[in-house]
Amino acid sequence: MIRIDLHAHTTASDGSLAPEELVRLAKQQGVATLAVTDHDTVAGLPRAIAEGAQAGVEIIPGIEISCLYGKTELHILGYFINPDDPHLAPALTTYQASREERNPRIVQRLQELGCALTYAEIKAAAGTAIVGRPHIAQALVRRGYVTSISEAFDRYLADDAPAYIPRPLPSPAEAIGLIRQIGGIPVLAHPVYISRLKEPFEQVCATLKGFGLLGLEALYSSHSRQQIDRYRSISRNQGFLVTGGSDFHGETKPNLLVGTGYGNLAIPADLLEPMRALATGGRCAG
Ligand SMILES: [Zn+2]
Ligand SMILES: [Zn+2]
Repeated sequence: MIRIDLHAHTTASDGSLAPEELVRLAKQQGVATLAVTDHDTVAGLPRAIAEGAQAGVEIIPGIEISCLYGKTELHILGYFINPDDPHLAPALTTYQASREERNPRIVQRLQELGCALTYAEIKAAAGTAIVGRPHIAQALVRRGYVTSISEAFDRYLADDAPAYIPRPLPSPAEAIGLIRQIGGIPVLAHPVYISRLKEPFEQVCATLKGFGLLGLEALYSSHSRQQIDRYRSISRNQGFLVTGGSDFHGETKPNLLVGTGYGNLAIPADLLEPMRALATGGRCAG
């Protein structure tokens, strides 16, 4: 089987590998096609594409945009986007500003909870990357307040945890609309993480379809066989494309590898064909 992976992060957002390192690791892992999908940025794409050309890995230009459905944060993946589309940069500047505004408030809350961290040290450790909650989690581990990233999220940073600060996010209609506008295929990411919905998940899918959603990430590192079957069946009912990805972050998500996830992820390359047909058919624009 030819292996593909349609969800991976680099140092341009909260991954720990530079775009070139990610592409080389994907090559080693036997990944023939890789989508680079950083949070709210396309800054890693040119380097990933250049390295992909060298290494013989096809790179699909992607992005992952956070949005808010009621009180629930949803992540919308965009595939085959045009990163140079003039509509993209101004929207991303707005999203990144809301992230920048939120981080110091999370750190302040952690200080109130007795964790002696500074925002300056977190920014310094993140380098040129856009700081996100995983960077704050790493600082909590470094300082010994928790022993792992997942403990940092459970005890402090997860939605509803004591240091959670909501941030203004675009609506799903906006996020999906932007991806369509820049020629991309919008896909709802990691449905297993979607919680606190006030209506059945399938109903939410129908609403998102109304906004222009075209696919569901049914294959995902932490999805069980039963969950995959369920999301495949929802995709069939809604007429969605089925996609799949590891959500590789490097050290930020230990034990999760590009291409294989936690070891049993296998994304068939034939999922790509209907995506390519949509992307090249020009039906995604507008
Ligand atoms: Zn996500
Ligand atoms: Zn992701």
